[in-house]
Amino acid sequence: MIELVQECGGKVLVGDSPGVGNLRAVARRTGMLAVIEETGAELAEFSAVRPVKGGGIFKQFEVAVPYLEADRVINLPKLKTHEMMTLTCGVKNLFGVIVGAAKPAWHLRAGDDRELFARMLLELYLVRPPDLTIVDAIVAMEGDGPGSGDPRPVGLLLAGNNPVAIDLIAGEIAGIPRQLLFVERQAQKLGLPGSDRQEIALAGVPLEEIAVPPFRLPPIADVQFGLPRFLKSRLRNQLTTRPVVVAEKCRLCRICVNACPPGAMKVHNDRVEVDYRHCIRCFCCRELCPEAALEVKKGLLLRLLEQLKKTSR
Ligand code: SF4
Ligand code: SF4
Repeated sequence: MIELVQECGGKVLVGDSPGVGNLRAVARRTGMLAVIEETGAELAEFSAVRPVKGGGIFKQFEVAVPYLEADRVINLPKLKTHEMMTLTCGVKNLFGVIVGAAKPAWHLRAGDDRELFARMLLELYLVRPPDLTIVDAIVAMEGDGPGSGDPRPVGLLLAGNNPVAIDLIAGEIAGIPRQLLFVERQAQKLGLPGSDRQEIALAGVPLEEIAVPPFRLPPIADVQFGLPRFLKSRLRNQLTTRPVVVAEKCRLCRICVNACPPGAMKVHNDRVEVDYRHCIRCFCCRELCPEAALEVKKGLLLRLLEQLKKTSR
């Protein structure tokens, strides 16, 4: 991508804001830094922010300055499953323009309401839509993504100028029911361009020729939809999945403790403990744990309901 933009006379900044650590360290570890240095592009650590008015229920976002000031933005997501949002792709990738430490605050504002978090992601995307989105689905990720999933070779690049439309098609390729695509559900509710499947014009390999077996999904499924709020809060532990620390794998690095948006984690007696009354099920802890030391446990009622579903088939 850097070379293609340079061929067109563009000066390339490669920017992001990782949830933990600094961009230079992450870029070095992933191999991005070597490419950036070799091609003469510039690494743009997102740190300075500028307040930008939101156009919906979120009135203001603090957005990374290089993202706002770039003449053109090329959004480069990877196709991955996501324990909170089911799928992370074009729209969710733009959460990277929220600078590191501010990310947990946004998680906290949405709490465990995935619809609200999806709405926030869409309103953030609308603040400054990228000019082009290219999804790397050459090797995608399935299962316990985005932190502990398994590689899934797909062999595709998806490109377009509307990340909502791209994500809808990506979900279709991955065999994920739209009901589980929170961003797409919200986009449809808001009537955003790209959310109407009939209006998406496709080019390239016909979808019916792309034989990708359905992705294995993360165990995020909860059955809180439609429940009244008072029941939701009472049955929350039974009806949802939750993160559980595997003590044997945990090296007590405290990355999860420091990143947990509501501060629901602490180290006590040389173990990481989670206070589930405050846990918002964002699964940032799992995403960031370098030891894959957090597992997902399903609540009792959730397991029972799933069992019932299986036996009634
Ligand atoms: S991030 Fe992982 S290894 Fe580090 S304290 Fe948390 S659970 Fe343990
Ligand atoms: S414990 Fe994990 S899932 Fe729960 S709020 Fe903290 S980071 Fe999110």
